[in-house]
Amino acid sequence: MDTTCEVCHGHAPADHYLCQACQHAILAWLYEIPHQVAELRTMLEPTTGPAQRGGSGRAHAPLPVRLDVLDLIGPGHAHYLEDPHGDQTGGVPVGAFLAGWAHYIASDVPAVHRDAHGTAQVLQSRIATAWPRSGTGLTAWCTWHARYLPYAATRPFAASFYNDLEGMLLRLRRLTHAEPRTRRLQAPCPRCQSWTLTEREDQLHIACTACPARLTPEEYATHRDQVMPAITAIALRIITAKAKAAA
Ligand SMILES: [Zn+2]
Ligand SMILES: [Zn+2]
Repeated sequence: MDTTCEVCHGHAPADHYLCQACQHAILAWLYEIPHQVAELRTMLEPTTGPAQRGGSGRAHAPLPVRLDVLDLIGPGHAHYLEDPHGDQTGGVPVGAFLAGWAHYIASDVPAVHRDAHGTAQVLQSRIATAWPRSGTGLTAWCTWHARYLPYAATRPFAASFYNDLEGMLLRLRRLTHAEPRTRRLQAPCPRCQSWTLTEREDQLHIACTACPARLTPEEYATHRDQVMPAITAIALRIITAKAKAAA
């Protein structure tokens, strides 16, 4: 039986806690993380601020690194998430965050799924540990999560994983100011008629920024093909009439 997505309340496939669009967003974020972290590595050194007029000098020498950046890309413990419903992302570096969630997901994977994509079984029963096949770098962890997403999306913790990952992306983007690219589309919104349909590179759906309308790329293409010929014809008529009036 089909279900409701726990994140966006849209239609989710049978026995899934996340819809296709929310799974698409997770995959896009997993792809984005290594790029964001590469950007952060270039920002570790603090920039020299403007000279302070009348300052009495610092009590301590300035730190040689930016702590807000180090907080995200520095080392940390890949701790087991005891409570995935709690707020576990605050202050956790991105590598430890990805490894922590991977170990949590691996511990939940049933025995029949083990070793399919690199989950090594440590003990016989419920304890397994995640181990990416290509090392333990950020990209390897992101690949691991992308491979296990079809499984994670069927588990009750899927929405928590989504929310935590989104929180991590917001933390990264706040520092790098590297936002996903957006593009305003040609056709008006089928619901509110505003010219505010927007495509965003990490989202599957095209969304209206003025109302809650959401369209799949296929729905948008059909809608555009239906409305644009008439709109273009009206625009042409107005232009022609103005040109005649000016003549
Ligand atoms: Zn959803
Ligand atoms: Zn709209």
